[in-house]
Amino acid sequence: MPSYDVLIIGAGHGGAQAALLLRQTGFEGSIALLGDEKEPPYERPPLSKDYMAGEKEFERILIRPRAFWKEREIDLLLTKRVRKVDPIAHMVTVGENEQIGYGRLIWATGGSPRLLTCPGANARGIFSIRRRDDVEAIRTRLPKTGHVVVIGGGYIGLEAAAVLRKLDKTVTVLEALPRVLARVAGEELSHFYEAEHRAHGVDLRTEAMVESIEKAEDGTARAVILSDKTRIEADMIIVGIGIVPETAPLIAAGASGGNGVDVDSYCRTSLPDIYAIGDCACHANRFARGDRIRLESVQNANDQAKVAVQHIIGEPIEYEAVPWFWSNQYDLRLQTVGLSTGHDQTILRGDPESRSFSILYLLGGKLIALDCINAVKDYVQGKAHILSGAVLDQAQLADPSRPLKEVELA
Ligand code: FAD
Repeated sequence: MPSYDVLIIGAGHGGAQAALLLRQTGFEGSIALLGDEKEPPYERPPLSKDYMAGEKEFERILIRPRAFWKEREIDLLLTKRVRKVDPIAHMVTVGENEQIGYGRLIWATGGSPRLLTCPGANARGIFSIRRRDDVEAIRTRLPKTGHVVVIGGGYIGLEAAAVLRKLDKTVTVLEALPRVLARVAGEELSHFYEAEHRAHGVDLRTEAMVESIEKAEDGTARAVILSDKTRIEADMIIVGIGIVPETAPLIAAGASGGNGVDVDSYCRTSLPDIYAIGDCACHANRFARGDRIRLESVQNANDQAKVAVQHIIGEPIEYEAVPWFWSNQYDLRLQTVGLSTGHDQTILRGDPESRSFSILYLLGGKLIALDCINAVKDYVQGKAHILSGAVLDQAQLADPSRPLKEVELA
């Protein structure tokens, strides 16, 4: 049975970063990076942005050139899926019967797209956007596609809608909640994006509950039926309604979890020598006031990779990173820093009409998060205020002519 000092499951953002960092820190043990996709690690954010638009070659979204992994003596074990973990024997089972041993295991498996469950959900012509294969399938069908219905008004659905409008497709976005981005952003930002998409010709509908998918005789989806019986014809349906963390083998092995797998501040699971990082890791986050959450962002995957690696090499650091995220839609670059959940006040800084502004989120007078649209300086300078936890002068915070770093205490 092959065995590695560090075996990393999931060759995505977190897994790749962990392997890279291990070598960068001088770790000389054996490392394998095992994943169920066929490609070497690649960046996922472009999948709903420039890669989907056909503006970037696949080779340009690889996290490192193909030859890199071999050069660094990192074994890439691709198209392999872990089905079982034996924490006592320190061994995983891949596929039917292949066994691989480990000294330390890093679980970095992200999540799978949440699927529709309504009648007709098994029709052909319904796509998710999580992997390169998904986008290839979408792109192959696009030339024959006039009308795309996007189900889900989260970041991925909205980014896809923006790309599809650019490609001159007719686009309908269906969001079940009263506003888009409801889980991640405040009302002002939601309404700004709703107006933006409508101005670009998207038929965006909120409180639109999907009841069923109507199939053509050949089993292809041809319409979405809403709970009020509205029928919306579709040549293609894209579903962006979140992910389900990929943690079943770990939970079956006895790891504590529920919403993903639970980790401590060093990214250790409750199982010996097993770490979990990235989208699947449920952790207590200082910026969520200690609540246990999962973060789905490149920042979190990379920062947790560092925490796990530091622990493995015997120089532990706790996970304390400030969450940040970005989204590109049309000519708008959104950068978010901090976590806005639980805020009790918002401040608008700048004029949305100018297409460069920020929304500041406060809790008990303290700045806890910023959503910055085409406003890089606010994003960079706001971060320091989130970290300091100081109570700042609100009139100055709202004044875009005053750099955030010069805002004084209240
Ligand atoms: P992933 O990168 O998803 O890697 C997990 C890998 O593990 C996958 O290859 C998966 O197939 C594999 N795997 C799963 N189970 C098994 C198993 N049992 N055995 C073997 N392999 C397995 N974040 C941002 O910060 N900004 C953005 O703009 C942004 N845009 C995004 C756009 C899209 C379309 C998507 C899908 C995500 C986007 N994200 C963005 C989120 C970001 O990509 C994720 O947070 C990040 O990829 C998480 O890294 P990860 O290592 O946890 O998981």
